[in-house]
Amino acid sequence: MKRFRDTAREALRHPELRRALDHNTRVSVEKRRRRIAETPGYAEASRRAARARRRMLREHRTLLQQWIQRARSRGIQVHPVASAGEARRAVLRILERHGVRRVVKSKSMITEEIGLNPALEAAGIQVTETDLGEWIVQLLGQRPSHITAPALHLRRHEIQHVFHEKLGYSGSEDPRELAAFARRYLRQRFLEAEAGITGANFLVAETGGLVILENEGNAGFTLAWPRLHVAVTSVEKVVADHGDLADLLRVLPVAATGQRQTAYVRFVQGPISQDREVHVVLLHGPRLDWLQDPDWAETFACIRCGACSTECPVYQIVGGHAYASVYSGPIGIPLSFLLWPDEALPDLAYACTLCGRCVGVCPVEVPLVDLILRVRQRTASRALSPLLKGWLRGWTLMMTSPPVQAMARRLLRSPLARPLSSFGPFRAWTRERGLSFFEGEEP
Ligand code: SF4
Repeated sequence: MKRFRDTAREALRHPELRRALDHNTRVSVEKRRRRIAETPGYAEASRRAARARRRMLREHRTLLQQWIQRARSRGIQVHPVASAGEARRAVLRILERHGVRRVVKSKSMITEEIGLNPALEAAGIQVTETDLGEWIVQLLGQRPSHITAPALHLRRHEIQHVFHEKLGYSGSEDPRELAAFARRYLRQRFLEAEAGITGANFLVAETGGLVILENEGNAGFTLAWPRLHVAVTSVEKVVADHGDLADLLRVLPVAATGQRQTAYVRFVQGPISQDREVHVVLLHGPRLDWLQDPDWAETFACIRCGACSTECPVYQIVGGHAYASVYSGPIGIPLSFLLWPDEALPDLAYACTLCGRCVGVCPVEVPLVDLILRVRQRTASRALSPLLKGWLRGWTLMMTSPPVQAMARRLLRSPLARPLSSFGPFRAWTRERGLSFFEGEEP
């Protein structure tokens, strides 16, 4: 079975990747720090945003009911689904009902999570990603390597190369020229599309609307140009009201990209005319269970800014693909463990130095280190053989109970116990320490 140890080693073998990560994460961290320093009251705004997320954790059932009811009353067709498979089928049903063959998409981690693109392509539907970074990784047949910056692992000349190889681009590696080429190409895809698929950053219970943040204008085009708009999202995106939303909108762009404000904040309040439809495929499994679990609920307070990744010293060196999961970086560790318990890399919880920089930068105070330690605890106890578990239980008993320890000392001081020092876990212990601990004074 693949392990993080191996995927990380593999990543370290690529000097180009190292250079891209080094440059792009450094720029991202510096921009964020500068913006935080220049934003008066950021710390207080972050505390308020954290409170808004805790409100969601406490009241999510009521808020969700409220959101669904109000969204439906606005003409939004809501499809609650329990699993990734159901979500894919729901989207396919909607598209097939409208005879859709060409779709444009704006960046959405939930659609990555449910594996939507391969399912649509298998059904003969052409899918074009329209966020520049997401489109580049689509051309390369890769996954996004970062929650908000999908092509963070690439350098300009690599993007120039992929445009040249796949689309005959003959221009320079100047970002403006690359972006202008992408714009020309994608505009045609927009004009041909019969449906647009987006995610949603927030679902506002107070109004029943969706909020979608973006910087490139592509999400606006995706949701407004075709007559059919399908948003795929998940239950933890719900927020109580516009007050909470305002607090979150203050910190999310600062943490994500070091911007004062996202370039476009789209409010979708229902179909804009009678010949249009807005559908929301709302994924709740297994999230609703985890939201009830005090050990794990905090994972879903995350607003997917991606700051913890670019700030993480492990991510900065190996990049997102080494996590072998849709979600990478510190938040990717508990999310992968909870969403794909059988597929996540078994040693993913060790992709962390416990330095706590992620916690320091998280705009909504997700306790990432505690969550990662919890994943470590669970994966370690899952991986232990019954023999080793028995051994550790005995060891714990000996180290915590003076009478048992006294008995063990007496036993281990006898010459008959000497051979033990070369046995199993004893070998590692006695290589450095001998049996001196057991030879000392009894407690
Ligand atoms: S855990 Fe915090 S820092 Fe990391 S992506 Fe989520 S909100 Fe951002």
